[in-house]
Amino acid sequence: MRTETGQVFTLADYKPTDFILERIDLTFELHPLETKVTARSLFHRRPGAATDAPLILDGDELVMTSLLLDGIELARDRYEETGRHLVIDGLPEEIAFEITVETMLAPANNTQLMGLYRSNGVYCTQCEAEGFRRITYAYDRPDALGVYTVHIIADKATCPVMLSNGNCIGKAGYGEGKHFASWFDPHPKPSYLFALVAGDLGVVEDTFTTMSGREVALKIYVEHGKEPRAAYAMDALKRSMHWDEEVFGREYDLDIFMIVAVSDFNMGAMENKGLNIFNDKYVLADPETATDADFANIEAIIAHEYFHNWTGNRITCRDWFQLCLKEGLTVYRDHEFSADQRSRAVKRITEVRHLKSEQFPEDAGPLAHPVRPTRYKEINNFYTSTVYEKGSEVTRMIATILGRETFKQGMDLYFERHDGKAATIEDFVKCFEDVSERDLGQFSRWYHQAGTPLVSVSTEYDADQQEFSVSLEQIVPPTPGQARKEPMHIPLKFGLILPNGNEAELDGVTGGDVTEDVLHLTERSQTFTFTNIPARPVLSLNRGFSAPINVDYTLTTEDLTQIAVHDRDLFARWQALNSLALPELTGAVKALRKGDAPTFNPAFIAALLAAAADEDLEPAFRAQALALPSESDLAREIGANNDPDANLVARLSLLNAIGLTGRKIFANLFETMSSSAPFKPDAASAGKRALRNTALTYLSFADNDPTLARETFDKADNMTDLSHALTVLAHHYPDSAETAEALEAFAKRFEGNPLVLDKWFAIQATTPGPDALDRVKSLMESPRFNAGNPNRVRALIGTFAFSNLSGFARADGAGFAFLADQVLDIDTRNPQLASRLLTSMRSWRMLEPQRAEYAKRALAKIDSSASLSVDVRDIAERMLQ
Ligand code: ZN
Repeated sequence: MRTETGQVFTLADYKPTDFILERIDLTFELHPLETKVTARSLFHRRPGAATDAPLILDGDELVMTSLLLDGIELARDRYEETGRHLVIDGLPEEIAFEITVETMLAPANNTQLMGLYRSNGVYCTQCEAEGFRRITYAYDRPDALGVYTVHIIADKATCPVMLSNGNCIGKAGYGEGKHFASWFDPHPKPSYLFALVAGDLGVVEDTFTTMSGREVALKIYVEHGKEPRAAYAMDALKRSMHWDEEVFGREYDLDIFMIVAVSDFNMGAMENKGLNIFNDKYVLADPETATDADFANIEAIIAHEYFHNWTGNRITCRDWFQLCLKEGLTVYRDHEFSADQRSRAVKRITEVRHLKSEQFPEDAGPLAHPVRPTRYKEINNFYTSTVYEKGSEVTRMIATILGRETFKQGMDLYFERHDGKAATIEDFVKCFEDVSERDLGQFSRWYHQAGTPLVSVSTEYDADQQEFSVSLEQIVPPTPGQARKEPMHIPLKFGLILPNGNEAELDGVTGGDVTEDVLHLTERSQTFTFTNIPARPVLSLNRGFSAPINVDYTLTTEDLTQIAVHDRDLFARWQALNSLALPELTGAVKALRKGDAPTFNPAFIAALLAAAADEDLEPAFRAQALALPSESDLAREIGANNDPDANLVARLSLLNAIGLTGRKIFANLFETMSSSAPFKPDAASAGKRALRNTALTYLSFADNDPTLARETFDKADNMTDLSHALTVLAHHYPDSAETAEALEAFAKRFEGNPLVLDKWFAIQATTPGPDALDRVKSLMESPRFNAGNPNRVRALIGTFAFSNLSGFARADGAGFAFLADQVLDIDTRNPQLASRLLTSMRSWRMLEPQRAEYAKRALAKIDSSASLSVDVRDIAERMLQ
């Protein structure tokens, strides 16, 4: 384990390298415990660099067995290994030279899953962010671009498949029982995009003809026998390639594109040039084993990694502070792709739900950081929803401010200007300034100021003057290291809905900039006055969630209902229903904590049921409307002194009240939304299943009876329905015989399919209430669990800590103590996994004092441990600050 701590990397310290890497030639002689890596790199001194500057290469836990300069062994006094660096002195001033480093690796013992490791007998690599330095000494930074040639030597029997980036340029036998393959990638790339895979894998093949008529071979490698489950991923890949040509004009640039699914992976997937490596969870799917959500995720992640080929690979990041340059932009691109493939409004609703439940809590807690951070201790801890999701929202706002056409011109300029280079956020923004001739200086604060802005709204209608004025005030809350904030440029899509349900024509406006349907809030406080408004309108604000902000605007139930029924923006309708639900929930929490029974506003329930029964609305939308704000949304709304038990009961009470009132509607939906046609994973079919399953949830609340859920479970012919029915059983009737039988039947049926058993773990880990912890502990003893596999750990321990608020934050603090022990244990093997699990405690200060005290003790226990990884130490320290 790495023990060096305390080093802080800052953006201000960025300096180009003293030498320029031209090409690198790697040879791997693969062996589980003794892999020999020979790296020959050609460098020359950067013009202008000091003539006596040493070459300083990065390394991490390396065993170097040989070091040559231009083929000759380097004298011991010419270099130094410092633990994290190899420093070589006395190198030529002008001519290029070649450094040859030989290292020995033990991939079978690499439990961190960074660098070269083995997953189920398959050799694979993960180099982002700083994994290449665990393979050889190198300039392991994104601004050092080199041309790679890779030779792989391995056993013929165990490694019939040998892959690396680019195109295969040779394959042949190599002595007794071995063979080799050579790969050449003509596109200069940083080390984090290097990849190698070798093993015994099955393959699914297809082809894609690009817009200029070139044929590209497509290959998806999976474990033998799983080939049929890669069909959907292949389809999603072809659609992604086509979409990127149509919408962004981007063509693929090699003769072959490969995806490999591995079962041990710290993240979702990785965009290595020409050779994407995926967590198998995001490749494998069929109706029997994957839910509609799995299909949607696979489609999105296949697209995301493919889109990185231009936004990330052809144009990469200058340094890791610019991570959002590739991630925020690429998430924006995959969101747009999914919106085009599915229902745009429903896609937007799910995005915003995700943003609010993941990114908003991060931005409101001790781990808050700007989209473009300026300092870090461990870059792995910055693959956050702020960098990804908020980064995407910032890109979306540029598109909103500039308009579709100008945004497209800006993207074209970006691709043209920076192709083949390592760029910064400033470079990116400059492209949009140049095409629009707009100053985006104030807008750029979105990259630099952390925290979710809060916009307070009040409106006034002057009937005599026929004027409607909108007063807005923005506050960006303080975040760690940033006490005071400057006002942001907040683009707010809006509409004025008249009493007859029509939208008011906008005539004149004073007080600020309004372009078409976007109101630009740029001052701390600003009043916009609209003239010629014939009757008092209802303001529909932040349509489509055009800005990632909180809005404080108290509308009457009638006004919100007006939006919920008449808004032409479906997202705004959903948002209005959501805004009606939140006070119901907070009111119920208050009542419960006073010892009273909660009561609910019938007008809200009526509005919700009207949406549920409205056949003009697509089923997926209706399911989203009925899903209610989550427990974490409720906790955020309450803000401080949260009691997760009261939040849980409040939400269950509201579900119950809705179920009882709407029993007929739900029974009808349960019937009519079922289909006898063969399963199809498309969005429309998925929407029907979602609505039917939502109806099942409400019915089982109304009837307080597991029978219907059990029947649904027995009859289900797809994983979406099956796992939903099991969830209803396990969450609402945890102690019933029906549940016990169903859980057992599910596990037996999917024995030997770990990805499906992950659902079984997750469903049980999210059963609410204080018993959850014991359930999780006993499931960890199950032979079906494997503490060494990140997917298993996340499914059981991660789901418990992130998604079971009442169970995890139980009143006696046992959940936090459990997590601390798990984090300490996992940290000895896989620091990245451990630190990510620990972030589940990021909202601890929002808990009531007793629970918060227990949380703090658990964090302090971790923090006081002597042998922590940099990853976990960084998170623990920040959470306690
Ligand atoms: Zn990405």
